Amino acid sequence: MKYQPVIGLEVHVELKTKSKMFCSCQNDSLEKRPNINICPVCLAHPGTLPVINNEAVRKVIKAGLALSCKISKLAKFDRKSYFYPDIPKGYQISQYDMPFCESGFLKVGDRKIEITRIHLEEDTGRLIHPKGENYSLVDFNRAGVPLMELVTEPQITSATEAKEFAQKLQLIIRYINISDANMEAGQMRVEANISLSKVSSDSENSKLGTKVEIKNLNSFKVVEKAINYEIKRQAKVLDNSEEVVQETRGWDELKESTFSQRKKEKAHDYRYFPEPDLPPLSFTDEQIAIIKRELPELPEAKKERIIKEYELNEKNATFFVQNKELGEYFEKVISELAADSPSEDLKKLTSIATNYILTDLQGMLKESKLIEKDFPITPENFAELVILVGTKKILSNVAKRVLLEMFQTGADPSHIIEEKGLSEMKDGEEILNIVKEILLKNEKAVSDFKEGKQNALQFLLGQVMAKTKGRVNPNEARKIIEKEINN
Ligand code: ADP
Ligand code: MG
Ligand code: ZN
Repeated sequence: MKYQPVIGLEVHVELKTKSKMFCSCQNDSLEKRPNINICPVCLAHPGTLPVINNEAVRKVIKAGLALSCKISKLAKFDRKSYFYPDIPKGYQISQYDMPFCESGFLKVGDRKIEITRIHLEEDTGRLIHPKGENYSLVDFNRAGVPLMELVTEPQITSATEAKEFAQKLQLIIRYINISDANMEAGQMRVEANISLSKVSSDSENSKLGTKVEIKNLNSFKVVEKAINYEIKRQAKVLDNSEEVVQETRGWDELKESTFSQRKKEKAHDYRYFPEPDLPPLSFTDEQIAIIKRELPELPEAKKERIIKEYELNEKNATFFVQNKELGEYFEKVISELAADSPSEDLKKLTSIATNYILTDLQGMLKESKLIEKDFPITPENFAELVILVGTKKILSNVAKRVLLEMFQTGADPSHIIEEKGLSEMKDGEEILNIVKEILLKNEKAVSDFKEGKQNALQFLLGQVMAKTKGRVNPNEARKIIEKEINN
């Protein structure tokens, strides 16, 4: 590639607050009935005044702290003027030159992507264009919903890196619980700015190319696809010795391509000026420290800790970090195990628990479509099952059946084992009798085995396992069968 892609992201996130940004209307992004959560303030009736939602401010600062930003001691709101039918005031209250958070970063792999700023603004309403009609409708439920905007420096170098940045950001937002950040529901919306520069050995001197902004990318996959498409499109333009036009483009999902929407307004077109109806906000170190103390353990720190604490590999640790609820469940199970079993067994039991959660349990969750936090197995019961397996009280094939039963009924494992007669057969006599019976019934297989056919032994073992409902150790059973045939 002759060109180096340069990408900067602008990410909007609807904050999860009780009420809207400047009025007491309910903030409910899932409300389907139009114009239910509206009032004179968010409809911009003359004479109404906005009041700042303190919770929204705290949540933006929380995001800033989680992303290593400098939190401004003094911040203010500004008016950004433009006309659009879904923006009733004719301007949007946003922040221009004094946002709440500046100069943060987020690491993607081993690259540090700098975050220019995070500010707070209000969302717009929503236009609906009924199919085949010659009018549009407007729903103001979303008008005035607190919206956080995060802007990165132009430092991202590929579509994949942009996608990973967005995914990491979403996870942090969910950990600090400021938004559900569901992209498909529009709670998190990504815009990508893309330009190409000539690859030059002297990176200091390489100038950024003209950027194109792609709006409203509503899934991680689309973020990646649209950026890759745009990189190729711009490369072709440059190859033809033409110039890239600075513009806003949209993503056409059907054609899998970007299309021109409009030429970008310059910032001064918005006529930003300080919002006269709202006071500037100032913060003391103590106020910021209080918010900082509320931060939970963040994904990166958690990953490092659980790798050390439970000797997990990178892949499993990443899974438990990304699937927060299962990760928390895993830790509860381990703490039950630690309480109930000698410490020298803990390592083995931890690895059994990890396997059962990552394979069997996760499979059952997927199939049942239950939400992680809603499945009925308590960590105590799960730990009990792990101990039964680890101490060889039950065999792993039985354990899988018990686990399924636990998943369906929430019962505890020893109860299920007793009720269904699933404990391991230890009585040698009893096992031997079953083996004899099977051998008698399968003379052909016995003679095949004597002629050296190993498959025949596998078949006989299968019969024994079926007859005992998997309650014998297969290795033991195999030995008994061989010994009996050779007798
Ligand atoms: P605008 O005034 O057009 O909104 P900004 O300078 O505020 O532009 O930047 C908006 C976003 O575009 C930021 O994420 C920034 O990193 C990104 N950006 C700026 N210049 C470029 C460029 N030449 N190539 C790619 N991205 C860029
Ligand atoms: Mg912009
Ligand atoms: Zn309102």
